[in-house]
Amino acid sequence: MGQCPIAIRALKRFAVDHAIKSGIYAPKGPVVMPAADAQKVAIIGSGPAGLMAGWHLARRGYDVTVFEALDVPGGAIAACIPEYRLPRDLLAADIENIKRVGVKIVTGTRIGTDISFEQLRRDYRAVFIAIGAHKSRKLCIEGEHADGILDSMAFLKDVNLGRPVDVGRRVGIIGGGNSAVDAARVAVRLRQCAHASIIYRRTRVEMPAFEEEIEAAIEEGIELLQLVAPVKVIAPGGKLTGAQCLRMKLGKPDSSGRRRPVPIEGSEFAIDLDTLIVAISEDPDLFFLGQRHGIELSRWGTPTVSPETLATNVEGVFAGGDVVTGPNTVIDAMASGRLAAEMIDQYLQGETPSPEYELVRPSMYVPPVELTEEEIETAARPVMPCLPARQRINSFAEVDLTLTEEAAIGEARRCLRCDLETEHAKQQLERIHLEEGSNGG
Ligand SMILES: Cc1cc2nc3c(=O)[nH]c(=O)nc-3n(C[C@H](O)[C@H](O)[C@H](O)COP(=O)(O)OP(=O)(O)OC[C@H]3O[C@@H](n4cnc5c(N)ncnc54)[C@H](O)[C@@H]3O)c2cc1C
Repeated sequence: MGQCPIAIRALKRFAVDHAIKSGIYAPKGPVVMPAADAQKVAIIGSGPAGLMAGWHLARRGYDVTVFEALDVPGGAIAACIPEYRLPRDLLAADIENIKRVGVKIVTGTRIGTDISFEQLRRDYRAVFIAIGAHKSRKLCIEGEHADGILDSMAFLKDVNLGRPVDVGRRVGIIGGGNSAVDAARVAVRLRQCAHASIIYRRTRVEMPAFEEEIEAAIEEGIELLQLVAPVKVIAPGGKLTGAQCLRMKLGKPDSSGRRRPVPIEGSEFAIDLDTLIVAISEDPDLFFLGQRHGIELSRWGTPTVSPETLATNVEGVFAGGDVVTGPNTVIDAMASGRLAAEMIDQYLQGETPSPEYELVRPSMYVPPVELTEEEIETAARPVMPCLPARQRINSFAEVDLTLTEEAAIGEARRCLRCDLETEHAKQQLERIHLEEGSNGG
């Protein structure tokens, strides 16, 4: 046992499901309103970075308004990650809790179009830019503007937000990241699509998408065309009918550390397609900054911030989440939102922002579970239960299911308690608690 890491995500999921079922997680208490003289902070973007910053700032007494271009709050987790991976009722409950601490979320309001960035800077003491990275990169090949070519972000938003979507029977998706795999898995759930292929210029090993998502896509019948790159869109009369592709081989590693795809001469072939979804990467759209904003940008066009404080070079303007890092993860975006809130708080208190690192001590001593030899021999990581592939592709129902109580307890018992692994650490913790006990703590 112990060869496989603990299935921590499955255990957290079990704990949250249990909390919801037993009513512990339901939104509670009255809605809090900020004080009339509270300092005002504007947040652009209601993704995990913006919402997390809003939550922490409101709890520190600030009057926070989050501006969101879309008609729904939540950012990529509401508009791009499909519902079969993230149920919307759970997201709605979390957003409800964020509103209850006083965060105002103004949807359908794009900064730069509905309100200018300059206006925000005049009306608010601090601004946090958390707009994510939603501008799909172009393929830059002949015929790219043909009818039948979609960008993955627009496609996923249309499906997730219930807008009409037009795909054909044969759908090709170009790219190897999460957006590509999600676009393919969404496409096969649409009635019109009979076959979907992911076209990727490296191999499965180099794909940036999560491995379990790739596996799930293959189970759902999606074809993975590896070492293939499109070179031209075939579109007689401006309507897509296919893509001209080249086979690739892997060369020397590039700056990303992955082996560079090298075209194989004379390997051209064509794929018949009715729809081609481009999912090769995304950039932030900072159009709203205008010409004379003065914010320093990196060579990738992202705002340059201090990694310690998330402050830009412009006084009172902070930025975090995907807009700074490029496409990343929810948890990283949330961490940056929390850091931004702390730094904005220090800035508005007239201090020079600088993070404080606190050592977090366990609040109570939980002794490690003693297992018998046999239990140690037989303990294994549970397989996450999920809907069968054939059932999945007919709906947007949640794919991952919850562990049974028995499996969750068994998995928790497999934890090696690395935090308490040494005898020394154990003694120290016991001493801390004895001291706290004798101090009446
Ligand atoms: C298809 C897909 C699948 C993913 N899967 C996963 C996954 O499984 N696990 C994981 O951890 N991460 C995943 N990610 C990444 C994750 O969703 C992002 O890293 C995260 O949401 C970034 O958070 P953010 O707050 O920085 O930006 P976002 O969540 O992108 O939110 C930014 C918000 O700002 C709004 N906005 C933009 N411009 C303006 C403007 N001018 N005015 C007002 N509002 C504006 C946007 O509409 C958007 O709602 C996925 C991403 C995509 C696209």
